[in-house]
Amino acid sequence: MSRRSAADKYDARRREFLEKEQRLLYADNQGVFETVLATAKRYGTAMASLEYQRIFLHLSSWPETRCERAFFPQKDEFHWRKRFERPFVTHDSGKPLGKSDMILFHISHERDYEDMLRMMQMSGIALRSEDRAGTWPIVIAAGLCVTANPLPLAPFVDAFIIGETEPALGPVLDTIKSLGAQGAGMSKILRWVAQLPGIYVPSHHGVTDVGTTIMRQWAGADAIGSRSCVCTPKCDLGPISLLEIARGCPYNCRFCMAGYIYLPYRENRLEDLMESIDELPKNMPLCLMGCSPPSHSAFGDIVGYAEKNRHKVTLGWLRPEDELQLRNMCEDYSPCTVTVAPEAGTESLRKVVGKSLSDEEVIDAFRKAPPDAERGRLYFMLGLPFEEEEDRQGIVELVERVREMTDLPLVVSISPFVPRPWTAFQWSPMVRPRRLRERLEPIEAGLKRISKVELEVSSFREGHIVALLARGGADVARALEERLKGLGWNTAFGNAGIKINWVFKPLKPGKKFGWDFLNMGFGYTRLTRELQLAVSANQCRFKAKPRPEEEE
Ligand code: SF4
Repeated sequence: MSRRSAADKYDARRREFLEKEQRLLYADNQGVFETVLATAKRYGTAMASLEYQRIFLHLSSWPETRCERAFFPQKDEFHWRKRFERPFVTHDSGKPLGKSDMILFHISHERDYEDMLRMMQMSGIALRSEDRAGTWPIVIAAGLCVTANPLPLAPFVDAFIIGETEPALGPVLDTIKSLGAQGAGMSKILRWVAQLPGIYVPSHHGVTDVGTTIMRQWAGADAIGSRSCVCTPKCDLGPISLLEIARGCPYNCRFCMAGYIYLPYRENRLEDLMESIDELPKNMPLCLMGCSPPSHSAFGDIVGYAEKNRHKVTLGWLRPEDELQLRNMCEDYSPCTVTVAPEAGTESLRKVVGKSLSDEEVIDAFRKAPPDAERGRLYFMLGLPFEEEEDRQGIVELVERVREMTDLPLVVSISPFVPRPWTAFQWSPMVRPRRLRERLEPIEAGLKRISKVELEVSSFREGHIVALLARGGADVARALEERLKGLGWNTAFGNAGIKINWVFKPLKPGKKFGWDFLNMGFGYTRLTRELQLAVSANQCRFKAKPRPEEEE
C-alpha cells in the first residue's frame, strides 16, 4: 500500500469512528487554549472508561478551552506510523499531538507507561522534561497509578495531578492559560502550578528526597456521579451509557490499591441518579459503575428505576485492577455473566487479606443467577501473602461447590498478586513467576476434572514487570527509555542498574519508599496496623487446626 493511500485509509477510519459517535452531553469545546486528552489505551477501551470520559467533558467544558482526544492506534496503523515516522494524531481533528498547548495523559495502569512514552516519542515530543525546557505542549499526567507513585514517570512529565481531577484540574488550566497569555516562560508557569494543591511538579519539588508534602485531592460527594458524554458502537462495551453511582470502595481489601487510593467511599444520591437516568436516551443499555456497584445503599432502587425507564442494566467496575479484568468486563457485557471475585480459595485467607466474602456468598451468587445467565466467572489471585497449600486447593474445592450449584459454563481467571504502593501489603514480596507456575499446576489439574470449566491465567511474567513498575523509583525511567530502543525488559532494567529480583524479597514493615512525600489522607501507621491485623488473622486461622508440619 502506498504511503498516501495508507494515510487516507487511517484518516477515513478515524472519521468513520467519529461519525458513529453519539453525543450524550454537550460541551462548548471552544477556545484558544488547545488541549489533548491522551491515553495509551485503544479507542474502544478508552471509551469504556468513565474516568477518561469524565476528564474529556471537564476539559472541553472549561472556559476558553478546547479539548481533543488521542488514543493508541490499532496495530496496523501503529506500525505504519512507526515505519514512516508519521506522528500520532488526535482523534477529533487529526492534528499532530505535538501541536497543542497541553497534553494530559490519563494513566490507569502501569503497563501504560511504555506506550505513553512511545506516543510522545513518535509525535516528536522530547521525552525528558529537561529536554523540552521552554517549549509547548506542557505534559501532565493523572490517574490511579501516578497518584500512588509518580516517580517512574517523573523525568518525563511536567506536572502530576495527585488524586481525583475534579478539584485539581480547573486551577491548573486557569494558571497555565493566564500565565501563558501573559507570555510567561514554561519554568515560571510550572513554578506557579507547583503551588496548587495536589500538584506534583518534579522540576520544582525534586525527584529524590522531595522536601514537601503533596496532598491527594478527592471530589466531594456532590461532585461525583459522572456519566458518559459519548456513546459509540465502537466502544468495547458496545453502544452503552455509563453512570457512576459511587466512588471509592466500602470494603478494605488489604491488597487493593484502588480501595485505598479512592478513599473515602462516597455514594451518589438516589434523586441525582434518577435525574441522570431520566436524561439518558430511552432503551439504551446502562452500565452502573463503581468499585463495587451493588454496595450502593439504594442499589435495588437504582436498578428498578433504570429498568422502569426501559434500560437494560449491567454492572461495571470503575477502575478495573488489570487489563484482563477490563477485557473480561467488555466480553461479559453481551452474554449475561455471573461474576464473583473471591480472590482467595478459602474463607480464612480471605479474612487475612481483608476480602469479606464467604464461600456461601460466592455460591449464593450462582444460586440466584438470573434465568438468562449464560456463564459464570470467578476471579482468584495466586501468590497472596500468607497463602498456603490448602488455600490453593480451596480454589478447586470452591469451584467444585459452585459446579454443584449451577450448570453454567464457568471461567476461572487467575492472576498473580502484585504488591502495590499505599496498600497494607506494599512491603510484601511477590512470588517468583517460576514458583507461581508450580503452584498453578495442581490447580490446573484439579479444575480439569470439573466439567465445563475454562481456566484463564494472566501472565506471571507480566505481573513481575508490573511489580517493578508499580513500586519503582525514578531509576525506572531509564529502563523505560531502554525499552523504547527495542530491548527486552531484563536488559532494560539491567541497563538502568535495577536488580529485578528485589520485588521477591520481603521488606521491613514501615520501611520508607520514594513516594512517601505524598499525603494520601492516611499514613504508614494505618498500613502497618492493617498488616499486623493480617498477621494476627493468619495466626488465628491455624489455632483451631494444627498446621500440617505440626501434625507430623
Ligand atoms: S478488591 Fe474490590 S471489594 Fe476489595 S477494596 Fe478493591 S474494589 Fe473494593
